[in-house]
Amino acid sequence: MATTATDLTDETPVVIVGAGQGGVQAAASLREGGFGGPITVVDGEPGLPYQRPPLSKAFLTGDGNRNLVDLRAEAFFDENVISLRSGQWVREIDRVASKVVLDSGEHLDYAHLILATGASPRILPVAGASQEGVVVLRTLSDASALRVVLPTQGLRIVIVGGGFIGLEVAAVAAKIGHQVTIVETLPRLMARAVSPELAGYVADVHRSHGTEILLGRRVVALPGKSGRVRAVELDDGTRIEADLVLVGIGAVPNTSLAEQADLEVANGIVVDDQLRTTDPAISAIGDCASFPSTHAACQARLESVQNAVDQARHVATRLLTGSTEPYRSVPWFWTTQFDLRLQMVGIPQDNDERIIHGDPSTGRFSVLRFHNGCLNTVESVNRPQDHVGGRKLLSANLNPTVEQLRQTEFKFDPRLYA
Ligand code: ADP
Repeated sequence: MATTATDLTDETPVVIVGAGQGGVQAAASLREGGFGGPITVVDGEPGLPYQRPPLSKAFLTGDGNRNLVDLRAEAFFDENVISLRSGQWVREIDRVASKVVLDSGEHLDYAHLILATGASPRILPVAGASQEGVVVLRTLSDASALRVVLPTQGLRIVIVGGGFIGLEVAAVAAKIGHQVTIVETLPRLMARAVSPELAGYVADVHRSHGTEILLGRRVVALPGKSGRVRAVELDDGTRIEADLVLVGIGAVPNTSLAEQADLEVANGIVVDDQLRTTDPAISAIGDCASFPSTHAACQARLESVQNAVDQARHVATRLLTGSTEPYRSVPWFWTTQFDLRLQMVGIPQDNDERIIHGDPSTGRFSVLRFHNGCLNTVESVNRPQDHVGGRKLLSANLNPTVEQLRQTEFKFDPRLYA
């Protein structure tokens, strides 16, 4: 039977699968909102839940102190009576009996189940991809292994994929002094997420630090010797010698539990505008969930901290209050590479116009992107005020035209457009 707000009592248990940013936030928000029933968060990874963003940035060169990446201190789980079952995988969801079954065989009853299972790195589908020296970066354990290797001077590092993970690691590696090459299949960096202007600017910054960027090229093989990678071979016959290959070619949502439970899955666990799966007693949030996005005007799956956290809060509010509000937080995310702090708000769609606001030669500017004549994305380089302003406008459903923005001399104050 569907869980409504009134079904949740101080006796009914909530089970959350996944202790990433979304899962832990869901537990925290339920408690903050006054839920007094049992909350269990299960995650197959051992240890305390951690934040991912630092793993491809400061954590790689820092002292490796685990506390730097903790999502919450251990005491948080005790104080809030949240049962954290880390190092335990959920094997199966039994929807008929409203239970999840752990690998150990143990059963956990739920009145409501929240799937926050995240995503896993896409595997490079070429020969040699499972050799030593070919790595991905997603988990704390991946990052811990990489930070052991990175201090070795003068490595030849090839990064496959010019997306966020690849570029963040490329920046760290170039700063250390390694010889870095990025191979990207599309004609520009971060093509999925940012404008050609921003992509070109970021590429120039990487090149100015000595990194070689090969666009429109595909890796066809990873030749190695004695089980260890030696080189990267491209579709045009180029061979790049490599001591280390980092594959950052995107992630696939972790949907196998949902599939096995016969929930609808299509590039993510399909949820409605209240983030309920096809079984209303089960919600899905974060990287694993495909939701109807008002900002994208279609079904979307977003991999960002903001999305995970806001969706977690939304589900907690629905469970606690019975609110039927659709989820419509404005999406935003950020990345840091060298001295660039890039912040993006909105979901880019076909742009009919783009405007550069500020002067790229100063290292501080924004790209304003327009769809059907109306602002729908703001990309900022070291201009946090534009990012914050863009968030205010888009969150208030205000999408000024270029003309309106010109009239106000590009002030992002919502009162000017309401
Ligand atoms: P991540 O979180 O792994 O950085 P993104 O989606 O931000 O994921 O970036 C992945 C990048 O990898 C994209 O720019 C995509 O075009 C690129 N890519 C995907 N497959 C390949 C491939 N086989 N070789 C090189 N680049 C690839």
